[in-house]
Amino acid sequence: MTGGFVIAIDGPAGTGKSTVARRVAQALDAGYLDTGAMYRIVTLAVLKAAVDPTDDAAVAALLPQLDFDSPTNAGPQRHSLAGTEVGTDIRGPAVTLAVTPVSANPAVRAWLLDRQRLLARSGRMVVEGRDIGTVVVPDADLKVYLTADAEERARRRHRQNAALVGGPAGDAGADLAAVVTDLHRRDTKDASRTHAPLQAAADAVVVDSSELAVEETVARVLALAAERGIR
Ligand code: C5P
Repeated sequence: MTGGFVIAIDGPAGTGKSTVARRVAQALDAGYLDTGAMYRIVTLAVLKAAVDPTDDAAVAALLPQLDFDSPTNAGPQRHSLAGTEVGTDIRGPAVTLAVTPVSANPAVRAWLLDRQRLLARSGRMVVEGRDIGTVVVPDADLKVYLTADAEERARRRHRQNAALVGGPAGDAGADLAAVVTDLHRRDTKDASRTHAPLQAAADAVVVDSSELAVEETVARVLALAAERGIR
């Protein structure tokens, strides 16, 4: 396949989705869209405006004024809000907590959906999220649902968090317990919300990465893509 394609990669947090999606995009010389980052940027804007993230109407009222970039390059991405780079702010604990109610807000989802669809269909694209195969691009050329067992996901996310703040990885038992609790909170809320819940599309290939190294997971996705003529 030399023209455009969409590879949808969905799944819960901590499965290594972002790393895998980005590497698959690089291997295929494709673009990469991180829809989680879009929800996080909206959430950052909500917090900056001192709006209650659970107040659906107040959050919806902010949307028309929002101005942010959604990069689609497969290398390091720069996200910016109102022209200012947001750096790691969108990955911090305040946004991670508030993104759950913001992403469950139907007005936010509808508002982001048009933008996500437009970008997803802009060429050769790997699109990562929770509802890409079910809602955003239901006719994606390949749908992968990435899973891993809960403990392994928490360990991975804990290492990632430590790297983010430049701290030592994997040495704080209490912090790991907090990550386990947070992942469980997000999974449960994401999977049980009314609008576009986290779930595997009926035609998604489920890839369990618990026992796989990143390179092995990437190789598995690339093999599935090749089977569908994507190379
Ligand atoms: O992927 P990431 O963990 O950065 O996503 C942050 C949050 O955004 C998720 O916990 C989920 O609530 C929400 N999200 C979503 N739909 C997507 C991508 C992310 O609801 N397609």
